[in-house]
Amino acid sequence: IEERAAVLIRAAEVVRRRRAELSALMVYEVGKPWDEADGEVSEVVDLMEWYARQALELNSRDRMVPWPGELTQFRYLALGVGAVISPWNFPLALATGMITAAVVAGNCVILKPAETSSTTAAWLVDIFTELGLPPGVINLLTGRGEVIGEALVDHPQIRFVAFTGSREVGVRIYERASRVHPGQRWLKRVQLEMGGKNAVVVDETADLDLAARAITASAFGFQGQKCSAGSRAILVESTYDDMVGRVLELAAQLKVGDPTDPEVTVGPVIDGAAEEKILDYLQIGRREGELLLGGDRRPGDGHLIEPTVFGKVAPDARIAQEEIFGPVLAVIKARDFEQGLAIANGTDYGLAGSYFSRDPRRIALAKERFHVGNLYINRRSTGAYMGVHPFGGFNMSGTDTKAGGPDYLLFFVQGQSVAESL
Ligand code: NAD
Repeated sequence: IEERAAVLIRAAEVVRRRRAELSALMVYEVGKPWDEADGEVSEVVDLMEWYARQALELNSRDRMVPWPGELTQFRYLALGVGAVISPWNFPLALATGMITAAVVAGNCVILKPAETSSTTAAWLVDIFTELGLPPGVINLLTGRGEVIGEALVDHPQIRFVAFTGSREVGVRIYERASRVHPGQRWLKRVQLEMGGKNAVVVDETADLDLAARAITASAFGFQGQKCSAGSRAILVESTYDDMVGRVLELAAQLKVGDPTDPEVTVGPVIDGAAEEKILDYLQIGRREGELLLGGDRRPGDGHLIEPTVFGKVAPDARIAQEEIFGPVLAVIKARDFEQGLAIANGTDYGLAGSYFSRDPRRIALAKERFHVGNLYINRRSTGAYMGVHPFGGFNMSGTDTKAGGPDYLLFFVQGQSVAESL
């Protein structure tokens, strides 16, 4: 285990050294703005170092009760060969997180990256190959999800599936992986980290300037294509007009365009299919809310969509319930902060959420009632740091495996108890 942890530490050094190059690759391959790409590369370094440290601690956990006359041991064994299926929106960090945790725990993996970010995945795998990881430990298999992804999930020799992606695909994988195929000698273990419809709740005691900046950053950063994007702003009635004004002012200043320009903060969405889906939601939004900003694509090359804000959206409207995965913010009015929290909890998802308030009693209540895997108080809903904010969602956001947390490696191992009579 020490040797494997050392490989991760060396890989982290390589990533640090190649920081600019890896950022550039993501700017070009998935249209990530520079600062976001740089943030992602830094996250990769954190993930590698965190899982290396966690691995070293794994077998030093000795919590068992000693028994007279027996030599007892509780230890963790690797599971076997797993499928890692990753999305395009954090093409480096999410693939890194899942493969490094699996491998440092002693498993081998087949990485199936998203079709639109296969080059980034290939560069990542190359780093490990160049570091001398034995052949067969990390394998790259590119191809279409419905073909290659499904074949992997169904395969009887796959021991576990680690997936990050959409709810629709995640649920399908969950069902398929539960089937036991001829020749299969285990029940597959599955982790699914899926989408979100994250809320930012603001009450009348909040620092409105801070809240408006957080709403704008979390709704429109990387074009809203983050699972933790704050796509619903839930504003207490008395702050509504003031807050909407502030958000519109900030959103109108965002520079939309070619992400190779370092001043651009809103680049293109990933592909034509995503553009079409988002444009459909913009039509739905026109019927369900009041269009306050944007609402269309930008003419010219690239799949550029204007930062869009819809006001007076009902909590149960489709644009307030479904993950759009684009630069679209639904603003919802709440009578008071308690109703705001109830609205925030009123979707199938439960990934991230923010609450802005200066009232300690209400903050304490929000900590009890706001049912999300990642709760932030007076802070934006995006930008979790590995080892600091373990990441993963409740309900239809996933299995809450908490990437970058103290328990994450346990998914990739099985505990064995050994007792020897003396
Ligand atoms: P996606 O579900 O379309 O694809 C994810 C991966 O699954 C890709 O590699 C794809 O090829 C593969 N795939 C597609 N169909 C498959 C099938 N039938 N069987 C097996 N594999 C299949 O997701 P995406 O568009 O790449 O990513 C965006 C989604 O990911 C959003 O919903 C976002 O919220 C979510 N996401 C969640 C987290 C999290 O930590 N919770 C992080 C990032 C992204």
